[in-house]
Amino acid sequence: MAKSKSKYSENLIRFQCTVCKQYNYFSRKNRKLVERKLEYQKYCRHCRKHTKHKEAKKK
Ligand SMILES: [Zn+2]
Repeated sequence: MAKSKSKYSENLIRFQCTVCKQYNYFSRKNRKLVERKLEYQKYCRHCRKHTKHKEAKKK
């Protein structure tokens, strides 16, 4: 399988805490399969509690 650097960066996303605006989680997703924005309830070590994390695009 041929690997493409650009494809990887396109699919790279990060999850931003909506409370402290820190980027706590990084992930990849297939945009062809997942078109809507992702939102997860995750633990934020900065807030020291579970907060809502929103998907943000990585530049
Ligand atoms: Zn936070």
